[in-house]
Amino acid sequence: PNEVIDSLLIASFGRNYIARSIAKLPSGEEEFWEVNSRGKKHLAAVGDRLTLTKTSNNQAVIEKIQPRKNLLFRSDAFRSKSIAANVDQVILVLATQPAFSPDLLGRAAIAAEHDGIEFRILLNKIDLSESLAKARELLTPYRQLGIPIHEISAKSSPESLMAIRSHLAGKVSVLVGQSGMGKSTLLNQWIPTALAQTREHSIKLDTGKHTTTACRYYDLPSEWGSANGKLGALIDSPGFQEFGLAHISESELQHAFTEFGPYLGHCKYNNCTHLHEPECAVLTAVGLGKISSQRLNLFRQLVHETRNASTQVLERP
Ligand code: GDP
Ligand code: ZN
Repeated sequence: PNEVIDSLLIASFGRNYIARSIAKLPSGEEEFWEVNSRGKKHLAAVGDRLTLTKTSNNQAVIEKIQPRKNLLFRSDAFRSKSIAANVDQVILVLATQPAFSPDLLGRAAIAAEHDGIEFRILLNKIDLSESLAKARELLTPYRQLGIPIHEISAKSSPESLMAIRSHLAGKVSVLVGQSGMGKSTLLNQWIPTALAQTREHSIKLDTGKHTTTACRYYDLPSEWGSANGKLGALIDSPGFQEFGLAHISESELQHAFTEFGPYLGHCKYNNCTHLHEPECAVLTAVGLGKISSQRLNLFRQLVHETRNASTQVLERP
């Protein structure tokens, strides 16, 4: 009979994975596995808890992906592309320069809200003060929604990063952002051992060939403290521009826009879509400046995408 291993998926490169045994070796060392997904049957994500069976020395195949708390998708066109599973928090890194995409910001916020995941924004490069006002302005609707926003400078002010540690300790957070926002600079400041951790897997498993385009799971340093006996982790995903949301239904979308909440049920029509109807309480609130028009535009766009997607057959996770 093959040995059964309870493990955590800690790195993914396309459909190649590395997992770490939950149980440590008698020596106290960690045990890593190069994991084969057996074709399309098991599409796993970093943060997944996997039941593996050993096939050879450092190799194993997935028998089962344990039930997930949540799963974030990279894009709708390729549902197989997941960002991370079982996360407690989404941390979006934006910068004053180059200008960030308000669309990605909106999508990340909706993805997190829909899954009940905490959402936090880091506005990096505040030392580039000439672009600060513009960035703050784009963030206004999110500040009004009560989303925590931390202004930092990963390069010139390590102190600005210290204060955020307590919001990461004990949680599994996924770090997302377009390339150029300073995510690598930030990660290296926070987890100086990140490169060493990566190298350790590469040496043990001879995976040196794929080191760049990976999603990776980094344990937080013990100095950061713990919550509920856990240290927490940071999942880093390569820079990307998308957040797949087409799996969210139109009525779920209405609820993910939490600021619509007080107005839902007050429209003239029971089945109001809040897109164009007369005497729509949501549209009236936008007209009065109580809901940001930037957010209404995002809602319109996402409804449109959801309607288009529901007419296509999508691969289910
Ligand atoms: P990534 O693509 O998100 O991983 O971004 P990088 O960490 O590679 O950073 C992109 C560029 O922004 C690099 O040239 C960094 O040196 C620079 N950068 C990162 N953080 C800061 C910052 O706080 N202030 C300034 N001025 N530049 C920064
Ligand atoms: Zn309405």
